[in-house]
Amino acid sequence: MKFHEMEIKQVERALETDFSSGLSAEEVKKRVKQFGLNELEEGEKQSALLLFFSQFKDFMVLVLLAATLISGLLGEYIDAIAIIAIVIINGFLGFFQERRAEKSLQALKELSAPQVSVLRDGKWMKIPSKEIVVGDILKFTSGDRIGADVRLIESKSLEIEESALTGESVPVSKITEKLTNENPGIGDMENTAFMGTMVTRGNGVGVVIAIGMKTAMGQIAGLLQTAESQETPLQRRLEQLGKILITVALLLTFLVVAVGVIQGHDIYTMFLAGVSLAVAAIPEGLPAIVTVALSLGVQKMIKQKAIVRKLPAVETLGCASVICSDKTGTMTQNKMTVTHLWSGGQTWTVDGGGYQPKGDFYRNEKKVHPKDEKALQQMLIFGMLCNHSEINLKGEDYILDGDPTEGALLVSAMKAGFNRPKLLEEFTIMNEFPFDSSRKMMSIHVKDKQGRHFIITKGAPDVILGISESILWDGRTQYLNKETNQKVQSAIDNLASQALRTIAIAFKPIPANTYIFSEKEAESKLTFIGVQGMIDPPRPEVKLAVKECKEAGIKTVMITGDHAITAKAIAAQLGILTSKSKVLDGKQLSEMSVEDLENVVEDVSVFARVSPEHKLKIVKALQNRGHIVAMTGDGVNDAPAIKAADIGVAMGITGTDVAKEASALVLLDDNFATIKAAIKEGRNIYENIRKFVRYLLASNVGEILVMLFAMLLGLPLPLVPIQILWVNLVTDGLPAMALGLDRPEENVMKRGPRSPNEGVFSRGLGWKVVSRGFLIGLVTLFAFMIVYHNDPSQLQYAQTVAFATLVMAQLIHVFDCRSEKSVLSRNPFGNQYLVWAVISSLLMVLVVIYYPPLQPIFHTLPIAAKDWLLIIGLSSIPTFLLAGSFLLRKTK
Ligand code: ATP
Repeated sequence: MKFHEMEIKQVERALETDFSSGLSAEEVKKRVKQFGLNELEEGEKQSALLLFFSQFKDFMVLVLLAATLISGLLGEYIDAIAIIAIVIINGFLGFFQERRAEKSLQALKELSAPQVSVLRDGKWMKIPSKEIVVGDILKFTSGDRIGADVRLIESKSLEIEESALTGESVPVSKITEKLTNENPGIGDMENTAFMGTMVTRGNGVGVVIAIGMKTAMGQIAGLLQTAESQETPLQRRLEQLGKILITVALLLTFLVVAVGVIQGHDIYTMFLAGVSLAVAAIPEGLPAIVTVALSLGVQKMIKQKAIVRKLPAVETLGCASVICSDKTGTMTQNKMTVTHLWSGGQTWTVDGGGYQPKGDFYRNEKKVHPKDEKALQQMLIFGMLCNHSEINLKGEDYILDGDPTEGALLVSAMKAGFNRPKLLEEFTIMNEFPFDSSRKMMSIHVKDKQGRHFIITKGAPDVILGISESILWDGRTQYLNKETNQKVQSAIDNLASQALRTIAIAFKPIPANTYIFSEKEAESKLTFIGVQGMIDPPRPEVKLAVKECKEAGIKTVMITGDHAITAKAIAAQLGILTSKSKVLDGKQLSEMSVEDLENVVEDVSVFARVSPEHKLKIVKALQNRGHIVAMTGDGVNDAPAIKAADIGVAMGITGTDVAKEASALVLLDDNFATIKAAIKEGRNIYENIRKFVRYLLASNVGEILVMLFAMLLGLPLPLVPIQILWVNLVTDGLPAMALGLDRPEENVMKRGPRSPNEGVFSRGLGWKVVSRGFLIGLVTLFAFMIVYHNDPSQLQYAQTVAFATLVMAQLIHVFDCRSEKSVLSRNPFGNQYLVWAVISSLLMVLVVIYYPPLQPIFHTLPIAAKDWLLIIGLSSIPTFLLAGSFLLRKTK
């Protein structure tokens, strides 16, 4: 059907829908059943089976399997079967970890999937865009992505950028009339909006004519760009490191084998030992565990209301040194209430809180009736007309649907007894120039009952004053001279200094039956009526969050479209503005180059009256000063700055789809404190990754060294291959994962941000790995030598003791890894996952030592109680040594 050629009434009939109430829930269910969900088919997903088999494609695992085959051919069936069993268990562990990571990333994708406003059963509601059906009525506004193909039924200055489909980046103006040209191309379908395109201006309503693969986007879905890489810098660095470690491990392994063979060991055993050691020592799986840790961290962040859209951001968060945050709604509650009104030298106050339309007006502390005050009345009526919000009574509560600034203007007028539907009987809105944060105002063209036409404009008072030529004073319109201008200016400043957000109302009569095309034409030569001042209390948690950031070496910068004096007052309340810090406003910013800004930016804590374009300049200047910048935003124009920032942060509630898509982090509650929480979590995830890298690598170093030392000393093999495999592929994994889930150390937000160039082994980690690995290797060797020299005929028993010592030394060492300082600096058993992981790893080792059927497979013998004393004594030496040296340093 060619909906673009139909009148909208025809479309309504053809799609069996109702433009005034939308589809019913029942009808929607039916349509979903019949036509499916509004989804684009994705490429083939990796099946579970494939994922499982991919666990075995590691080069070293393949070598191990080949070696196993050889031992099978040589008749060593038990070894061969045992190795295969271990490889399979390891495969399962890897499989479940990866599945979990994949699932949580998928869940994340769904959480950040776009929502749309749809009319159903007579009510506007938000739904995920995949639930859209044909016949649904959708509403969209600047910054939204269109959720399906729609035939437009309402367009208010609607402009849509369709480059995703047409490659043309200049937005197209949209209309609602039927088209007459035959077979128009997508670019010419002016009355249709397409899935995936973006509203850049105005707002509109449309009825869905196609979903999913039937949309224009669906037909070219194959051309859609593929997702960008989600690899984090650390993962890349670990991969590079992995390559170096493989070489080192292979060389050392080769050395062990060579020395072993020279010392007269049997070639086959040495070969298998070499392969096992190589499999064990090469940290090939490390990047995979890192992914798991990152994705688990991401899940934790969701609980704190922060959604990470780009995995690398988890790491960058820990490096953030400046947070540039919007004020309204992020630092403040965005619950606005008009408390003061000013016009022509008079000030009125209003009482009553929240959105409840109950309150009285006072002038000079005397109650007045607003209908007796002409200027006041006009300001209230115009504020109510030039407005998009609605206040609805739900139960006992008055709920705002729309922009809080406009909600406050509605409520102030309602308190005076005005009502918007009634006003709309007297005034007809002919045209609208929507609000945008660069102009900082919005205007409507109205006609009253007498046929008189006006422009009504509301917006930032300083801006409106700049485009006004006259002012309403004592009921008369006067020319705006220097003196009155000054008076208005100081009235605005006076309201702003009380931390009030100010909105001015102005108007101008225009000749009847004129059509004003441009905002510029509408928003000039106005008559200034007055200003409404509204409170927007700070969010209570922000002050503490700002303080915590400061302690963590992170500077908070307020960036706002609001008046400098209002911004300053609130910044001071929140502890952002100090005696030394400065305030810069949009005008000053415009006059500065990035280089100029760079010279002063360190001292600026508040940027006021900024336009979204300025944000990019601020990000650049801060980055040039070496900062890692988190920048928040919500509108379409914020997207470039969000993209340019190291951590782009979008608002989950008020943010547009475009801002969210550009961002790395979405705040579900729009709250500044959530950024701090995410940074804390980001720092913690990175520290946790360091913890298990330290644990796993130290363990590997220990294993290689014990073998190497033994070979150099001409001793028999202290560990048999299967034991090495068991330790590395089975018992190490769980504690490492548990370290990945560890809670942050107390000082995590008491030290400065990490340098983004920091290497994996920085801050002493390399030394810790080598020294602890060395000690673990040494005590294992001692345990082996003591028992072996006691009775050289009992080699298998000595090997079992060495095996137990190695595992015990690692499992004790794992508690050390919880802290950068020492095991003593925090409760070693504070991480319950770790306690359980260690217990289960211990059990797995005890089973292979004491369970008779497994003893021949693992070449073990039951260890006598007295030898456990030796094992535990030796294996705790490394931790004692470290704790001792920590205490020594502390007492010094
Ligand atoms: P922040 O950038 O911290 O979120 P903000 O909400 O004040 O601050 P903008 O939304 O860009 O930033 O608003 C800038 C100014 O425009 C406001 O200070 C106000 O004076 C004016 N303004 C805000 N909303 C509207 C609106 N709906 N209609 C007209 N003017 C508005």
